[in-house]
Amino acid sequence: MTYSYDDQNIFAKILRGEIPNNTVLETDHTLAFADIRPQAPTHVLVIPKGPYVTYDHFAAEASDAEIVDFNRTVARICADAGITPDTGARYISNAGPDGVQEVPHFHLHILAGRNMGRMVA
Ligand code: 5GP
Repeated sequence: MTYSYDDQNIFAKILRGEIPNNTVLETDHTLAFADIRPQAPTHVLVIPKGPYVTYDHFAAEASDAEIVDFNRTVARICADAGITPDTGARYISNAGPDGVQEVPHFHLHILAGRNMGRMVA
């Protein structure tokens, strides 16, 4: 699968420091920041710093170090946000036209702090 990365997308600009963001956590390979239009009391976007378009692109082409770092960062954010087995959360990654992806840089939404309701088609 060949993906073409648009380095003018808004998250690429955030990574380059051209657009401000409300950073939650930053590591060597990963940046997490508050969504500008929060859909829940906790709404964090987690992105790799590398140029990956979608989750499957990241999973296929990122290094083990990037993948581990990304996932450990998600875990730290959840712990810091008070997400537990008793509260739960929703993790979403939209991809491409069918997934109605707005920003073509892979990102994971972490949504928590309220009951998210059932997903319906
Ligand atoms: P997608 O539909 O691609 O999964 O969602 C993109 C998300 O990025 C949306 O939830 C939207 O609110 C968020 N977003 C779009 N532009 C910005 C921005 O400039 N800053 C931040 N923090 N979030 C953004």
